[in-house]
Amino acid sequence: MSAKFSLDDDSVVVIVGSGAGGGTLADELTKRGVNVVILEAGKHYTQADFENDEWAMFKKISWLDKRISAGGWHHTETYPNLPAWIVKGVGGSTMHFSGLALRFLPHDFRIKSTYGEVKGANVLDWPISYEELAPYYDIAERKMGVAGTKASGLPEMPPNNHYKVIAAGAKKVGYTDISRPVASNTRVNDGRPACQQIGFCMQGCKIGAKWSTLYSEIPRAIETGRAELRPQSMVLKIEHDKSGKVSGVLYADKDGRQHLQKARVVCVAGNSIESPRLLLNSASSMFPNGLANSSGQVGKNYMNHTTAAAIAIHKGPVYMYRGFDIAAVISDEAQLNPDRGFLGGYHLEGLALHLPFTAAFMKPGGWGREVTSALEQYDHMSCVWVCGEDMPQEENGITLHPTEKDQYGLPIPIVTKTDHTNDAAMRRHGLAQWRKVSEAVGATRVIDMPPYPASHNMGTNRMSANARDGVLNKWGQAHDIKNLFVSDGSQFTSSSAANPTLTIVALAVRQAEYIAGAMQRREL
Ligand SMILES: Cc1cc2nc3c(=O)[nH]c(=O)nc-3n(C[C@H](O)[C@H](O)[C@H](O)COP(=O)(O)OP(=O)(O)OC[C@H]3O[C@@H](n4cnc5c(N)ncnc54)[C@H](O)[C@@H]3O)c2cc1C
Ligand code: SF4
Repeated sequence: MSAKFSLDDDSVVVIVGSGAGGGTLADELTKRGVNVVILEAGKHYTQADFENDEWAMFKKISWLDKRISAGGWHHTETYPNLPAWIVKGVGGSTMHFSGLALRFLPHDFRIKSTYGEVKGANVLDWPISYEELAPYYDIAERKMGVAGTKASGLPEMPPNNHYKVIAAGAKKVGYTDISRPVASNTRVNDGRPACQQIGFCMQGCKIGAKWSTLYSEIPRAIETGRAELRPQSMVLKIEHDKSGKVSGVLYADKDGRQHLQKARVVCVAGNSIESPRLLLNSASSMFPNGLANSSGQVGKNYMNHTTAAAIAIHKGPVYMYRGFDIAAVISDEAQLNPDRGFLGGYHLEGLALHLPFTAAFMKPGGWGREVTSALEQYDHMSCVWVCGEDMPQEENGITLHPTEKDQYGLPIPIVTKTDHTNDAAMRRHGLAQWRKVSEAVGATRVIDMPPYPASHNMGTNRMSANARDGVLNKWGQAHDIKNLFVSDGSQFTSSSAANPTLTIVALAVRQAEYIAGAMQRREL
């Protein structure tokens, strides 16, 4: 049964956002006896609202408040007001996500030690190691039900046609590390059914086989009687007391009425654009540059993976859209190998887009015979998304627009990104390798596509061992304010080549353990 807390209750932990980070934290804190108020800007959709239609769902659940793309990346032209693809709703982007759940590699946590200084990049080691996070990866794989992992015990996803085509090509060019660890049940698990292989996973899984905090962590937290979820509640500012500790949050409800919810601890999990924006918008006379920003690093070092996409058209039909959206992941190139001419690595992720998104993303704004001749071969296509490590650069980040305001009167965010030379070299390599994989199984045409709006957003409130280099310590706790935490992907100090959600969930489990313990010891 849902709890109900008064606005004056200063014993609660307030969680801003209910996606991968916020939803997991709510579940893990309530399980440990902590009371939480979850404030979520978006609506509370249910599975009955999901439609097997890419544009209908995109329009329904995406964060479409105005943002500006700036910097040298192609988004300034292709997606000037949609730098990132993020969800606004209970469950956050876990509603849309395609479920791929890969672990970071050990070197991802120590990129400065591994790569040394990188010209033009702001590389840093994490204050935690892979070994410290490994037990939490196990818990995350169990919670999310990642198929084919030892921790979950769930069988692998059965191979669909798309998998067979990609795996055959990969083997022909000598790749051996081909898998698909996806957060979708391959048998009944955690009160949710097994995947029915219908596809349209990114439009929201109607039966709940694919993991989402919308129908796993959030209802579980509510059932404990220790959580209150307030949808359509946009947090505008974090307040603090005279000593500099945070004391509550100001938020606007669905009718625009503002409320102040008091708090013992505040955890920010609004994804990597809104989280730093909220800290910057919470500037006060005591913290004129924004909360937790004595290092000046809030909003900086924005990463979103080095991505590219491509389509291969085959002689025979592939029907890539049948079955789970993520078909196969080739991970051989994720390993370090400086002989390729770039640092870090990448995964080749076979991802089925449906026809409307294929048409939209293949050549944004393009038309004519080149486009239509490809689209009429839709059932013969296989499709890849190159997902590689993105170098943190201080100039890439989130800043507040000097004049333009949103519906709440808050400055809109400007998302600035320019590729590092390493990113460009990696992208070229990834596309060339995909061409080899596809041609090895007889593809007649390969079409390179520009990256989609950024769905993996990381790094704008990074962890650091030293307070001058970043925003958070190894628990995701602000260096400057001990009862302020960040619980989403903005904590990341490096991006790895792996999709971020499994790591966000593992960090949230570990953070909840820390917060509950510190509250019990009266340290918070
Ligand atoms: C199409 C798509 C496919 C993806 N596929 C994968 C994949 O296969 N594997 C993978 O690992 N990742 C994938 N991702 C990325 C993944 O969804 C995100 O990395 C993850 O959900 C981020 O978690 P988060 O907690 O940081 O933010 P989110 O899950 O985005 O949650 C943030 C929530 O905070 C709310 N919020 C923001 N600001 C405020 C505020 N001021 N007040 C109140 N609420 C606020 C938002 O409305 C949102 O609900 C995909 C994403 C998309 C869009
Ligand atoms: S293929 Fe499986 S995970 Fe995807 S939407 Fe269908 S049932 Fe859900």
